[in-house]
Amino acid sequence: MSVVAVLAAALVVGPDTVAAAVKVTVMPSAVRQGDVALIVVTGAASAPEMDGSLAGRPLFFFPYADGYAALIGIDLEARPGKTPWRLGFVDGTGAPRKAAGTIRVMARKFPVQRLSLPKSMVDLSPDDERRANAEAARLRTLFDMTGPERLWRGRFTRPVASDAKAEGFGSRRIINGRPRSPHSGADFSAPAGTPVVASGRGRVALVVEFFFGGRLVALDHGEGLYTLYMHLERVEVAEGALVERGSIIGAVGSTGRATGPHLHWAAQLRRARIDPDALLKLPVRD
Ligand SMILES: [Zn+2]
Repeated sequence: MSVVAVLAAALVVGPDTVAAAVKVTVMPSAVRQGDVALIVVTGAASAPEMDGSLAGRPLFFFPYADGYAALIGIDLEARPGKTPWRLGFVDGTGAPRKAAGTIRVMARKFPVQRLSLPKSMVDLSPDDERRANAEAARLRTLFDMTGPERLWRGRFTRPVASDAKAEGFGSRRIINGRPRSPHSGADFSAPAGTPVVASGRGRVALVVEFFFGGRLVALDHGEGLYTLYMHLERVEVAEGALVERGSIIGAVGSTGRATGPHLHWAAQLRRARIDPDALLKLPVRD
């Protein structure tokens, strides 16, 4: 199901400035909950820098084609409807320029699973719960620390070399009548030991063993983009290392809370939980 998104761009110019041929495009044009898209500004190559925001949160622009581009991430629970963006830059004549518009976020239907399970299988012990909460907070802190340097380049690649489908992003579980937080990653089923590769160039920001995620690696791709690889059997990189797209970082396993060997792969862009599959489809040039 794909619905066309509406991109309304309005250039705001001063009374005595001539409207320059600045064009703003969002790719893909239909943006759904959990999507990641590219906002491309062309005709602004002479601008020394570009500032912008989406729903009041800053966007990181980098030089792209004959202008600038930035990644925009739509959280999987973002409110559907119009979301405003703004741009500010200095044109070739040194005059300050502004542009503003909206993108329309379309609702997406996520599967809902209702389960009845014995209490003992669902409730964590107070110690486990404390641990899981502290680990979740540690990840949130990491996602908020963001470098201005873009480390990723070009298209993103699948983290496992198999044709397993990425499944379950955004699915919701209602256990014993209580809704759980949505599944914020995609699962690839693969045999234990299958190599896991970096989906894009980045720095190894975290190598830890978590209660839910098991042995996990977080890669910082710069400008607020992170990818996470969970339940690993082993990890073959160290914190701080710079890894290239496609280089091996570990192997599929079932550490942490996992029913069997699989890779839980998640992506986060400046606090927005995005569908890693959308990252693979991002139409970005090298
Ligand atoms: Zn998962």
